[in-house]
Amino acid sequence: MRRPIIAGNWKMNNTIAATKALLTDLIPLVKDAEAEVVVCVPYTDIATAGEMIKGTNIKLGAENVHWAEKGAFTGEISADMLKELDVEYVIIGHSERRQYFGETDETVNMRVKAALAKGLKPIICVGETLEEREGGIVEKVLVRQVEGAFKDIDKSELENIVIAYEPVWAIGTGKTATAQDANDTIAIIRNTMAKLYCEKCAEEKVRIQYGGSMNPKNASELMAMEQIDGGLIGGASLKAVDFSQVVKYNK
Ligand code: PEP
Repeated sequence: MRRPIIAGNWKMNNTIAATKALLTDLIPLVKDAEAEVVVCVPYTDIATAGEMIKGTNIKLGAENVHWAEKGAFTGEISADMLKELDVEYVIIGHSERRQYFGETDETVNMRVKAALAKGLKPIICVGETLEEREGGIVEKVLVRQVEGAFKDIDKSELENIVIAYEPVWAIGTGKTATAQDANDTIAIIRNTMAKLYCEKCAEEKVRIQYGGSMNPKNASELMAMEQIDGGLIGGASLKAVDFSQVVKYNK
């Protein structure tokens, strides 16, 4: 009903030469994957990655997009620019963007709208910090982030959007939420989507990934959980064998 989707987030890693080497190894390793496979790559690698994965089962993603169509936004990239390079997915609101670059629920929503308007599929990241978890406000934070990201987004767009639940304390730290915790927290997100849209839409159309130190060792346990529809993978996506083992978590 909800096809699993495993996406790599390369972050600020991989020159063009490294991109070529990584994808040369990765393409044959994931060619018979059952899950949808995406690599979200730095802007400078998009053209190279796009050429290399043409005709394969790997889909192309970017790591951000600006909300304006064009104009005086030095250093930013528009949805049209990404579409021109056949980008299909785009990460929006990653916690590193929220933490280091002033991303807010409002700018996330603006980017989501701009992406959808041009036919890009957003991977919207939400997640609580350690302080928020310890303060017992996980649900409050997630509801705020989800409501903010989906403000004025029509129900018809839900199948074009993926949500990534990424507890900030688990990203790049080697700490993973337990499968049960991740499942329970993702259930809160799905419930929020049910309230915003409808029960059936949240059940059938909304894919929610887990992200945060997901790797070949913990992928199958996480992916076995009812609420978890995929993974957003940072560190482990930089090694072809590791990423392929996450992608083929059920083999
Ligand atoms: C991420 O950056 O989205 C992420 C989940 O990173 P890592 O897998 O390295 O924790």
